[in-house]
Amino acid sequence: MPEKVDVVIVGGGVMGCAIACNLAKEGLKPAVVEKSDIGGEASGANGGGVRQSARNLKEMPLAMESIRMYGDLHEELGMDVEYVRKGNLRLCTSEEELETMRLSVENQKAIGLDLEMLNRKQVLEINPHIGEKVLGASFCPTDGHVNPFLVTYGFFKKAKRLGARFFIHEVVKDIRLRKSRVTGVETDKRTFETDLVVNAAGVAGRKVANMVGLDLPMRPVFSEALITEPYAPLFKQMIGHAKGLFYGRQTVHGSFFWGGFVGTEQFIHREGKPLFHYIGPAISQMVIDYFPVLKNLNLIRMWSGLIAQMSDGLPVLGFSEEVPGFVFATGFSGHGFGLAPVIGRLISELIMDCQTSISITDFCYGRFSKGGDKECSCQGNAACTTVTAVCPNKREWLKSI
Ligand SMILES: Cc1cc2nc3c(=O)[nH]c(=O)nc-3n(C[C@H](O)[C@H](O)[C@H](O)COP(=O)(O)OP(=O)(O)OC[C@H]3O[C@@H](n4cnc5c(N)ncnc54)[C@H](O)[C@@H]3O)c2cc1C
Repeated sequence: MPEKVDVVIVGGGVMGCAIACNLAKEGLKPAVVEKSDIGGEASGANGGGVRQSARNLKEMPLAMESIRMYGDLHEELGMDVEYVRKGNLRLCTSEEELETMRLSVENQKAIGLDLEMLNRKQVLEINPHIGEKVLGASFCPTDGHVNPFLVTYGFFKKAKRLGARFFIHEVVKDIRLRKSRVTGVETDKRTFETDLVVNAAGVAGRKVANMVGLDLPMRPVFSEALITEPYAPLFKQMIGHAKGLFYGRQTVHGSFFWGGFVGTEQFIHREGKPLFHYIGPAISQMVIDYFPVLKNLNLIRMWSGLIAQMSDGLPVLGFSEEVPGFVFATGFSGHGFGLAPVIGRLISELIMDCQTSISITDFCYGRFSKGGDKECSCQGNAACTTVTAVCPNKREWLKSI
């Protein structure tokens, strides 16, 4: 006999946990199905950088609100999440990089981000350990970093306390439809009866969309990362490279996290797994070129993760108009962790009230389904009739039961 549930969330990464937490706060009883462990994929593999700078401008309102929310997250979750808001330096080593960065800084400032261009002397005042090749950098003082394991577990634990249920080591195999509407979810262990499914499956978001006959222009991108032994405190900023070649930080415990791209990730897999002995040292060499002070540190661990890369680099959020009851929260394209608090809140707002406090129109599925013309429906806007037609309006439903 299928069990009736308010909503099934596919994926127990940071997004699934944050959405479950927000929905449980509103009084729903979400069922989260996770095929591996909580935070077992990208949410447990990432650098913990939480930034607004260097994002697509369309994401900026979400990122700015999310960073504001990170400031209160320890109170919201009732635990320390090692959030450090000491800025993000994006390093430039050539006139060309400086010029591109200047333009980008102007564009971001124009929509209200507190961001400035620094010359080498100013960069060294903020971080004296930066090597000779750096000529300047952008600096966003309100960016920062966080411990991604603590954030994901914080949302998970709070969601559980509020009544969400987690089905771990259980795989969503199919989604049931009747007349194109969601009616249930089949896992490898049970069947849920529900009219609402949230696709928070990260890099498997495309596969989950396929279960309801939809497709996404998403592909997995390998990304590698490493961590060093702990060292004396050197700096607190998040570090990035002008062209995104590497990024990293010193953790609260003193280890250095570095991630990066060397261009060969897609070519040196064996059975879907990259060969570490090439990429780890290449990232390390790049980092040492920029931070010579780190050259004698030992590496403790290297790993890889998969990025859910969308064709336009933007996430897919909101209701599917084709399949009522199917909600997207996927495709974060390698920089989703910084958005987690706001995504949890906005997807919950949409499900409860059919509208969101910040517009998510730019991220609708319709931008792909309508022949690539980038026209989106008015998802999340108060007067949006397209979406109210497919929105379950769970707040009204809660009042009625
Ligand atoms: C190496 C690396 C470094 C990164 N660094 C940063 C950074 O510094 N800053 C930043 O903002 N972002 C960063 N990111 C991106 C960030 O990690 C992701 O955007 C974010 O974690 C996405 O969260 P998610 O919950 O959508 O996905 P995930 O954490 O991948 O969660 C999806 C979950 O769905 C589960 N799942 C999938 N299919 C099924 C199924 N059929 N049934 C049940 N469960 C299923 C998976 O097991 C998985 O746990 C990085 C990513 C990587 C890989």
